[in-house]
Amino acid sequence: MYTESQESWPIHSMTRPQPPVVDPGPLPGLRQPPSDAIVLFDGKSLSGWRLADSTDQPAQWKVADGYMEVVAGAGNIVTARSFGDVQLHVEFMAPAPAHGEGQGRGNSGVFLMGIYEIQVLDSYQNPTYADGAAAAVYGQYPPLVNASRPPGEWQTYDIVFHRPRFDASGDVTSKARMTLLHNGVLVQDDVVLTGPTAHKQRPPYAKHADRLPLILQDHGDPVRFRNVWARELEHHP
Ligand code: MG
Repeated sequence: MYTESQESWPIHSMTRPQPPVVDPGPLPGLRQPPSDAIVLFDGKSLSGWRLADSTDQPAQWKVADGYMEVVAGAGNIVTARSFGDVQLHVEFMAPAPAHGEGQGRGNSGVFLMGIYEIQVLDSYQNPTYADGAAAAVYGQYPPLVNASRPPGEWQTYDIVFHRPRFDASGDVTSKARMTLLHNGVLVQDDVVLTGPTAHKQRPPYAKHADRLPLILQDHGDPVRFRNVWARELEHHP
């Protein structure tokens, strides 16, 4: 199990061990949302999403045949709704045939609170730095195993996220925690985040709101998403 001692690995180290490959088993059917889920993408409309850099603008990703697809250059998209502690289900598909390598193959990302990224990448027979593989907490924790499906197949992330808590002076009193199942396989086991995720750096926590929107990343690759839903784990007045 990974612990905070994993922080001793330099960020994006190429010598950090690669997660062992695990076949996640046969493709399951579509996981329908439970009755208390907030459906964020039902396969038909981006009405619950905005352009992240300019939230008065609509999201401009492609929507077709029950999925949405990153349009290169259209920008990250953000939910209209905000979340704190949350259970999140996301399905994604890397482009087939595979194109590019390493971080340049099927790259996107799921950003809890718009700040804490679970990497989306085509990690099927595509080595990269371990803390940047699919299902990594980007730059912090490689997945315990590589449970990736091939490009062109739908994959699932089931995430349990607990937001950080801050005191009045802005100091973190409880760090963010993440559990993740990739294609039904446990790959992040209640890891304690070092702070926001970032490229080539591990910035410290900075006080933020208790509820913030979810972001999906435009990294230039036409990654598809479908069946995105959330369950709130804390209730607010
Ligand atoms: Mg990414």
